[in-house]
Amino acid sequence: MGMDPRFFIRGIDMKPIPKPIHDYVWQRDGGRCRFCGLEGEHVHHIYSRYSQIPAHLKIQETINNNHPDNLILLCSKHHFRVHNGNIVYDKVKEIEISRQRAKLVKTTTKLIECLIKNKSKLAK
Ligand SMILES: [Zn+2]
Ligand SMILES: [Zn+2]
Repeated sequence: MGMDPRFFIRGIDMKPIPKPIHDYVWQRDGGRCRFCGLEGEHVHHIYSRYSQIPAHLKIQETINNNHPDNLILLCSKHHFRVHNGNIVYDKVKEIEISRQRAKLVKTTTKLIECLIKNKSKLAK
């Protein structure tokens, strides 16, 4: 399934990351920036909201690429640097780290419900 063009509409595309997923990523990454270990401030999309995540990574499709495997916690400095192209990192490696950490975190029912809801919205 490809990206639905409706999600590029301004206002809809900037929909925030669902709170349970946001909180889960925060907890999974220990409240710390994944690059420097300082206090985390922003949840960042490894593959941007508008890009297609390569199929071989087997990440469930959600609105705006909001799957936790595609999200990492960063401090403001590193978030800024990533968006300005001053840091190029291995996306596949970051996803792998997320998955390893996820095993340490008890997945909440809320998170699963949220992903299912996201997916069914996408199917409409
Ligand atoms: Zn940092
Ligand atoms: Zn970002």
